[in-house]
Amino acid sequence: MPDVDEEGVVLLEGLGERAQQIGRDLGDVTADPADEVDVLLLPHRMVGGCPVREVGVGDEAELLEQLQRPVDRGDVHTGSRLGYRGVHLIRGGVAEGVDRLQHQLALRGEAKPAGAELIGQRRREHEIDTRPTRVPRVPEQRVVALLGVGVVPADAPILRADDLGAIRGDGIFETMHVRAGRAWLLDEHLARMTRSAARMDLALPPRPALADLASQALAVWPAGIEGALRIVCTRGPEDAVDPPVTVFATIAAIGDPLRRARRDGIAVVTATLGIPSAMRRAAPWLLGGAKTVSYAVNMASQRWARSVGADDVLWVSTDGFALEAPTSTLVWLDGSTLCTVPAEPTGILAGTTTRWLLVHAGEFGWHTDERMVTPNELAGVDGAWFLSSARGIAALRTLDGVEMPFSAEMTGRIRARLGYP
Ligand code: PLP
Repeated sequence: MPDVDEEGVVLLEGLGERAQQIGRDLGDVTADPADEVDVLLLPHRMVGGCPVREVGVGDEAELLEQLQRPVDRGDVHTGSRLGYRGVHLIRGGVAEGVDRLQHQLALRGEAKPAGAELIGQRRREHEIDTRPTRVPRVPEQRVVALLGVGVVPADAPILRADDLGAIRGDGIFETMHVRAGRAWLLDEHLARMTRSAARMDLALPPRPALADLASQALAVWPAGIEGALRIVCTRGPEDAVDPPVTVFATIAAIGDPLRRARRDGIAVVTATLGIPSAMRRAAPWLLGGAKTVSYAVNMASQRWARSVGADDVLWVSTDGFALEAPTSTLVWLDGSTLCTVPAEPTGILAGTTTRWLLVHAGEFGWHTDERMVTPNELAGVDGAWFLSSARGIAALRTLDGVEMPFSAEMTGRIRARLGYP
């Protein structure tokens, strides 16, 4: 047992075999103003040689008292991964830690455990209920996990109101396909996220930490349900000096419209993106190739498509080339060559699904190529599809109202090879 007195301590758990469970439910954590903080999360923190996840104390003074001795003895130190979301134990004060904590633990309200074992509960009257409560796994088809904390109730607030991700769209994300309880192409997505972070000067936590976060979320997701796993990293609070990034993961079920589109295809309309195809390469501030959370234009494009009776948009450059869709990559078959738009010179997002298909195109007897194409030229190809992690595949049935060549059999074969139901 660490050198933190048990008296006054609500939760003090070793990470051992319960590591997966601790932190899945933060309904028992209150986040009060800084001077009233009464529960600290200490992810990956070692105290007295033992890993400590949570220390709850009555108030800040008590917190200092509780932690003073181990700090004095010098046996408080960080565990394997800490920094971006750790609470700094500064001898003589925890001002920075508490400030960060406010950001980390904007988790208020009543306990609404989702897929978790409740390991203790702090009530408003400061009574402690330690009766273990079993709750059903994932009562709703949505999982939310916070880096350094674990799975939290799906409706728990986890962003500060001034998080730059929320107020400026200043952050990045990845969406992965969840199949059989696993994230497909996780490594490839984390690699792209690293590239996005570099383009944004964003201090993305190390890949193993992100992979852990994904595992924590996936651990409570029902393996039989097809889902989309998002990992999001925002720049953090606006007013903090050197703010810690905010990193969380969500999993949600794939909706019926996307699944239907895999079989039925979609009606697509072209829409200008308002820039020449080579513009983003020359203007790095346009963040070509980065998957940022600034998707308002992408979503507006799709709303506009629906307003004119279509399902999705194909963005076109001002010099007349097809680029990509707001959430998908364009691929087309020209004879026996499977083609896509080159990502580097155009600044489109390099699609992981498309990359995977191109690597496996030989199995279909196809060559591959990256080339520019105009919407007019697309009318004469042997098939065109939108690909993305959540969508899988959707054939373009019409482009600007003109019918496209469509083979349900070929689309089905590609879909099956990509592993989508
Ligand atoms: N292009 C854009 C703009 C996207 O947002 C996405 C996916 O979200 C894609 C392409 C397809 O990328 P991936 O296959 O990696 O999901």
